[in-house]
Amino acid sequence: MTGIALPATDELRARARSALDRVGVAVPEGNGLRARTPITGEDLFGLAATGTAGTEEALVAARAAFLDWRTTPAPRRGDLVRRLGDLLRDHKDDLADLITIEAGKIRSEALGEVQEMIDICDFAVGLSRQLYGRTIASERPGHRLAETWHPLGVVGVISAFNFPAAVWSWNTAVALACGDTVVWKPSELTPLISLACDRLLARAADDVGVPRDVHRLLLGDRAVGEQLVDDPRVALVSATGSTRMGREVGPRVAARFGRSLLELGGNNAAVVAPSADLDLAVQGIVFAAVGTAGQRCTTLRRLIAHHDIAETLVGRLTAAYGKLPIGDPFDRTTLVGPLISARALAEMRGALDRVRGEGGEVLAGGARRPTPSAPDAVYVDPAVVRVERQTDVVRGETFAPILYVMTYDTFDEAIALHNDVPQGLSSSIFTRDQQEAERFLSAEGSDCGIANVNIGTSGAEIGGAFGGEKETGGGRESGSDAWRAYMRSATNTINYSSRLSLAQNVSFL
Ligand code: NAD
Repeated sequence: MTGIALPATDELRARARSALDRVGVAVPEGNGLRARTPITGEDLFGLAATGTAGTEEALVAARAAFLDWRTTPAPRRGDLVRRLGDLLRDHKDDLADLITIEAGKIRSEALGEVQEMIDICDFAVGLSRQLYGRTIASERPGHRLAETWHPLGVVGVISAFNFPAAVWSWNTAVALACGDTVVWKPSELTPLISLACDRLLARAADDVGVPRDVHRLLLGDRAVGEQLVDDPRVALVSATGSTRMGREVGPRVAARFGRSLLELGGNNAAVVAPSADLDLAVQGIVFAAVGTAGQRCTTLRRLIAHHDIAETLVGRLTAAYGKLPIGDPFDRTTLVGPLISARALAEMRGALDRVRGEGGEVLAGGARRPTPSAPDAVYVDPAVVRVERQTDVVRGETFAPILYVMTYDTFDEAIALHNDVPQGLSSSIFTRDQQEAERFLSAEGSDCGIANVNIGTSGAEIGGAFGGEKETGGGRESGSDAWRAYMRSATNTINYSSRLSLAQNVSFL
């Protein structure tokens, strides 16, 4: 196998530096944290991390800013988000560069991530004029009931490495429109793109005359996140990451009666029915399974194919896998970039070893590609594995490109297999049978927060709420009425008569 040609780390460092300069970031150099690139597996810069005192100062500032921000009219709050969206447009290439350098995304997916940020800004600007409450008929004459929505407070955002900027924007654009202030603890693996986002929001705030403290950035590892989780000034903790992280964060926030919004791991499946358009299915499956090198929460990890078409489908998939361009994510022809770390490789190898031990057969991929110029970089051939049963390793999320293939005979069997995992994020069915498609979307079908027909599991668009059930955490973000999680409601009873009438005909005095 020939080695992959990669750019030099110095070149990537210079490219990151130029992007940061154009955005206006002064990198806070120090020893607390390292910015690193998975493209070569090497360090770029040492950065100062936010300590306990820095986090405390940010919380005090964000809380103080909230007291004014909550009474700023919502459409005026939308002006800040509109300006942020304009700056994101202006710096789309710079932000995409930083995402590619730090998360290893191919160019098109990095640009797509920035586009998603622009889209959520547009959405949130509209939302700033649509924070609707309902009026409710009262049982009492001369009375009116109303539901009012108010800002919640400081929102703590904890985010993962794989959508290092979009997840921040889903939360921040909506939280700001809702009248909350935001304190953000990004992944320790992606500090540079976080600095760029924070800087653009500070510039937007200056441009529209809003105090910068409506948003504060904290750089650091999970200890910084834990400080947010435990602080009663943080009204909502919106945490995106592994189920392990959510299992720690959820109970801690609940113990202080705070609110949490959890967006955790997925183990997403596609059912391919005998009537499916296989051309469409193959395209949809390959993008969903190997896009972002299998490191999306919505990555397709399980394929449930009908016996009649399984052989043909697997043959076409393994052929497509054999031709995947793997390598430098800045190269426009590359479709599969690096894994984030050596730990991700160890987890991938561990899962493949276990599944082989259980009788699974690796049909394609699974090997590491040599990178002679960058021995610490991790590039792998995405794997397709035939399994007979849905064992524990198949039922867990391995954050790497492994697609497990299973077969079914009856539709009920397919649904049972589909739902028999602890996670419930995204799902899809490829079929031309309308009854099957509708059953898949019905109450007795997919148990996921996202259920698609004739399209893969990944690549959600802004507008529909995003999130999943079971161990995925139950949170919803970025569309539909997900904004309500960032506000508190009050029920108002207004008596405009001159009689005091009590509900339920209670008489008193
Ligand atoms: P991770 O859980 O290792 O880290 C996520 C974030 O949580 C980081 O900022 C980390 O510092 C912080 N953190 C970790 N433990 C913490 C704790 N105890 N208290 C407070 N903060 C803590 O996840 P990762 O490896 O960065 O990302 C990959 C995972 O994220 C995958 O499981 C993926 O499915 C999931 N993910 C889910 C979604 C979604 O919307 N459902 C989106 C993206 C990623």
